[in-house]
Amino acid sequence: MSLSKLAEFGTRHVARGIGRLATEVIESGSGSYVTMTSGRKMLDFTCGIGVANLGHCHPAVTKAAQAQAGKMVHAQVNIAFQRPYLELIQSLLPLMPHKSLDTFFFWNSGSEAVEAAVKLARHATKKQNIIVMQGSYHGRTFGTMAMTRSKTIYGENYAPLMPGVFATPFPYCAQCSIASHCGDGKYNAENCCMDPVEQLELLLKRETAPSDTAAIVIEPVLGEGGYVPVVPEYLRRVREICDRNNILLVVDEVQSGFGRTGKMFAIEHYGVRPDILVMAKGIANGFPLSGIVSRKELMDTQKPGSMGGTYAGNAVSCAAGIAVAQAFKDEKILENVNVRSEEMMGSLRKAKSDFPDMVYDVRGLGLMLAVEFVGGKGYAAKVQAKCMEKDMLILTTSIYDTLRFIPPLNISKEDMAKGLGIIRGAIEEVAA
Ligand code: PMP
Repeated sequence: MSLSKLAEFGTRHVARGIGRLATEVIESGSGSYVTMTSGRKMLDFTCGIGVANLGHCHPAVTKAAQAQAGKMVHAQVNIAFQRPYLELIQSLLPLMPHKSLDTFFFWNSGSEAVEAAVKLARHATKKQNIIVMQGSYHGRTFGTMAMTRSKTIYGENYAPLMPGVFATPFPYCAQCSIASHCGDGKYNAENCCMDPVEQLELLLKRETAPSDTAAIVIEPVLGEGGYVPVVPEYLRRVREICDRNNILLVVDEVQSGFGRTGKMFAIEHYGVRPDILVMAKGIANGFPLSGIVSRKELMDTQKPGSMGGTYAGNAVSCAAGIAVAQAFKDEKILENVNVRSEEMMGSLRKAKSDFPDMVYDVRGLGLMLAVEFVGGKGYAAKVQAKCMEKDMLILTTSIYDTLRFIPPLNISKEDMAKGLGIIRGAIEEVAA
């Protein structure tokens, strides 16, 4: 098929429900760049939405996957243990944010893994209700659509969804219109007019009793909801509420995990122990793989045969995952994240001080960073479009006017400088 016809063919034959950022077709990817069929090379600050975190076609990951594909692709997890599945666990164990997290179950996608966490929480506690955060994103299956509260479009017209899901406010002080209560937009429990801890306590009194509530599920950094890191005090108080009420704390690290925030898992910034941790995306740098990890006595409440899935923990994906864990060691990935993060934060903060009428908030952790624009002017989409013109891919997020940046964790100083130059130029052009 001629190159010019490819995109047209896609528009005709691919489901419209899949939204698309770029109109061109991607041919290949290498490191921090993707190349379109036209030959146009684009700097990729999306990483396939936070998946190809070590850059496209990371050589060691590709090599490991190729080698495994020649040995054994699929023998199914309910048939027998497979070597890469077990060796992946061996690689992940030392990376876990708490030593109690020692028993794994692998799935394919983030949504499936979130649902696996819900199943485990319900089964282990013999309780049914789940509390999620307003603004959270957990996926597009019926269970996770019910848990997703970042945008109505994800659930609109798909009801009935999974019942028993309740939402509580996520502390998001930058958006509080009564900011004078807290003064500086920072969480201050004494003055907060909508104290999120109090709201959670009220939810447990008004709508879902602790004796009916199996788990509280939280993203340590709200992802699709706007790249908002959770307030440390809030997370600690949620842990206390869970402990007091025999409720499990589930952290969804699908987007924030595997180095994205400058630590292996975002929860490490907070020193809070999760009962169940959900992971996906960066775990295998693009090969479909997700999972949950918990403590053995919790995991082993489930009966043999009640868990599994045809493709769950695919051998090629697991081999890729082992190579990812090794790359974190060999290539000092976290060190790079923290240095590049400072460069990026510095540049974004400068944009905020240079364009105070346009840039409203700059936030995030590591290389999970965002710029929120003053609302109502469509700034994020305009800056995004300008970046595209300048051969750079960037994503928006949340119901607020926000751009999020998800560059590769091993991006070079030069490519980061190039990206920051493009973003700055785009903001200047939109502001003019
Ligand atoms: N949880 C979070 C925090 C996510 O960011 C996502 C995906 N954006 C999911 C769950 C769902 O993952 P998947 O799309 O692989 O089902």
